[in-house]
Amino acid sequence: MGGIIAVANQKGGVGKTTTAVNLAAALAMAQRKTLLIDIDSQANATSGLGVDAAEVETTIYQVLVEGAPLRDAVCETAIKHLHIVPATRELTGAEIALERRSEWEYALADQLRPLAHEYDFVLIDCPPSLSRLTVNALVAADRVLVPLQCEYYAMEGLSQLIDTVAAVSESLNPDLVLFGIVLTMFDVRTNLSRQVAAEVRSHFGDVVCETVIPRSVRLAEAPSHGVPVFLHDIRSSGAGAYLELSREIIRRAAAAGPLAAKGETAHG
Ligand code: ATP
Ligand code: MG
Repeated sequence: MGGIIAVANQKGGVGKTTTAVNLAAALAMAQRKTLLIDIDSQANATSGLGVDAAEVETTIYQVLVEGAPLRDAVCETAIKHLHIVPATRELTGAEIALERRSEWEYALADQLRPLAHEYDFVLIDCPPSLSRLTVNALVAADRVLVPLQCEYYAMEGLSQLIDTVAAVSESLNPDLVLFGIVLTMFDVRTNLSRQVAAEVRSHFGDVVCETVIPRSVRLAEAPSHGVPVFLHDIRSSGAGAYLELSREIIRRAAAAGPLAAKGETAHG
């Protein structure tokens, strides 16, 4: 198994969903059975994969709040080997509902445990906050992938995210590691993009993925067609970059070695 990867950054609009959707699709196209879980009430990953939330009965909300089996929420997509657990607007209510639940931190982890081994990769598209939903993703995951937009304030808030990852790995999920930082929306025409990329690399070294995602109109257009970029324009620079990133993630996951098998015994 390649791992359970939370795609997280509490900063909004940095490319989390674009990365989650297109990386998941690229992994699936490389014959890796992949599950994408949408835990953002904006439901951008859901619509971005063409799933009409109005037509699905069970979404991540019913799974986390009402205890519906995760398996019941799994939907197929236009890409072979890629499944998604959709979200809807309803998920905004999950924060309060989780607050009332004991051991709310494990709501997703408990649901994922019996299903995860059926997949090579599980990706979780997180909301732009360090909310209870994001903590659930960090507890369920064993790896965190952080998209970072190549802009002036890119690293602002990053230490808070890293502190949260450290806190979760200390107290709730010792398996959790910061797996990678991926630079997104890189603009070859600007010095700023190059400067930001160089600064992030000098700060974080090998944690930063070699693959850089360029600014690409095709990546921004694809969600309006409800498809990953590969079904919109496979020859675009954005498609090429996410294919390259998928190869790097497969390599990194293999190099990181086997994951600790999560025990069947419950936490607590
Ligand atoms: P949120 O925090 O709201 O969930 P996010 O971090 O998931 O946002 P995205 O939705 O992936 O970010 O991207 C924000 C916007 O930037 C979207 O309109 C998306 O289409 C666009 N975008 C993302 N990556 C790229 C890229 N490499 N090139 C061009 N546009 C991009
Ligand atoms: Mg998003």
